[in-house]
Amino acid sequence: MVLPCYNEEEVLPETSRRLSEKIRGMISDGTIAENSRILFVDDGSRDTTWQLISALCKDDPLFQGVRLAANRGHQNALLAGLMVASGICDMAISMDADLQDDIGVIDAMVEKYTAGADIVYGVRSDRKTDSFFKRTTARSFYKLMHGMGAETVYDHADFRLMSQRALKALAQYGEVNLFLRGIVPMLGFETQIVEYSRAKRFAGESKYPLRKMLSFALEGITSLSVKPIRMITGLGFGIFMVSIVVLIYSLVRYFTGHTIPGWTTTVLSVWAIGGLMMISLGVIGEYIGKIYLESKARPRYLIEEYLGDDTEVDLIDRKGMS
Ligand code: UDP
Ligand code: MG
Repeated sequence: MVLPCYNEEEVLPETSRRLSEKIRGMISDGTIAENSRILFVDDGSRDTTWQLISALCKDDPLFQGVRLAANRGHQNALLAGLMVASGICDMAISMDADLQDDIGVIDAMVEKYTAGADIVYGVRSDRKTDSFFKRTTARSFYKLMHGMGAETVYDHADFRLMSQRALKALAQYGEVNLFLRGIVPMLGFETQIVEYSRAKRFAGESKYPLRKMLSFALEGITSLSVKPIRMITGLGFGIFMVSIVVLIYSLVRYFTGHTIPGWTTTVLSVWAIGGLMMISLGVIGEYIGKIYLESKARPRYLIEEYLGDDTEVDLIDRKGMS
């Protein structure tokens, strides 16, 4: 199990209790290996999260911890955890530390894995527990992603099982802006879906405010698709066509002696075209920024500390170079 945690001191005690109960149960049922582990990734928390994780690791060999040197965001923290796990596990399940994902369906995931699936997505069966706002924004997110040509699994967050094979494949995607929900479906392999209903966060508050959600959506679209740039080209063509029509129209008006001051239309079009140009430049700038970041090839995460029993773990972000 891989769980990214950012300032989760309020949920960790309960999460670790429920999860260890679950995993121990599965171990004694014989559905998973005896040396199964729960790996917490501390994403540079500023509260006592790491202290809690290290205490857990000290008391119980079931728990392991990875501490990132700084807050790198949910996706990078998750990636760090999965990459650490990829060297030592047969399969890893990722989920949020607040246990909003139903740990009851882990059995079903493992079953599908045992039956041959390499990737099993946890997909929400409904969104009853979400606020109206989150529900509508999430819906528009998936619609927008789809419209922009970025294929993601509908209503699937990062609750998924991946086999070691799939994790090793994921490790070869060296991009700095790694959008897991878009990349994992690209891997291929045999894929299965498990439905679950998502609970409310039982303690603490969401670490995903609107600002982060918007940047996440933007990140997702621009790392998976170049459609926005194509749309700009289309827009440019459209506007050019319109301008030809306007040119013909004004020439006709001129030669028939109907020239009017036309101040309003001039001002309007200057503003409209100006605005469109700005937006277009912004979109192009977004991609250039991505190229800039990718060309620097910075590591996506830096591991400061690793608490675990496996000596062969690779703690460096190899970005497909391994
Ligand atoms: N998280 C993280 N780094 C961040 C923000 C969030 O590792 O910068 C983790 C967080 O601890 C949780 C998961 O990502 O385990 C999902 O966050 P949250 O539950 O706050 O998001 P929501 O469920 O509200 O979308
Ligand atoms: Mg949550």
